[in-house]
Amino acid sequence: MRLLIIPIGAVGSAVLKDIADALEKTFHFSVELGKEMPIPHDLYNKKRGQYQSTRILRKLHPFKTKDFHRVLGIMDADLYVPELNFVFGEADILAGVTVIALARLRQEFYGLKPDKGLFHLRAIKEAIHEIGHTYGLGHCHNPGCIMYFSNSLKDTDRKGPGFCSICKHELNILASED
Ligand SMILES: [Zn+2]
Ligand SMILES: [Zn+2]
Repeated sequence: MRLLIIPIGAVGSAVLKDIADALEKTFHFSVELGKEMPIPHDLYNKKRGQYQSTRILRKLHPFKTKDFHRVLGIMDADLYVPELNFVFGEADILAGVTVIALARLRQEFYGLKPDKGLFHLRAIKEAIHEIGHTYGLGHCHNPGCIMYFSNSLKDTDRKGPGFCSICKHELNILASED
């Protein structure tokens, strides 16, 4: 079983590597880094300064081939769905295709001092969370669990990167059926 990472536009190689390593360790599958996909400028909403997340997922569908059981798109930009101000990521559960957005994971986004370690950890958490969804896991009530819904970075910083015992148990069952 292999997961394919697709960088959408330029994404730092260090954060890509940290995400790939963390996913391999967490899910016990191998991760391959694919070729960079050009930024889909047609999905940019000028008024919002963001890209439409669900439509980006659709662009990632063709990468889900028989060689890869999961696809993760990573974009160093801000994403949204029409009903929300922003999203950290989104998963197409049935397709096994996911995307995460990095822009809001940096301290600089909030006018704070850069913190590379924290930035990478947040990116890892978002990636594990979205891939967790593709194994059928819903949102967890445990604020320390990676499957807890992140309404803000405060939630992201409090949780994970691991699964709570209930989610872990469920993941083992669901993953063995995959
Ligand atoms: Zn979620
Ligand atoms: Zn949980």
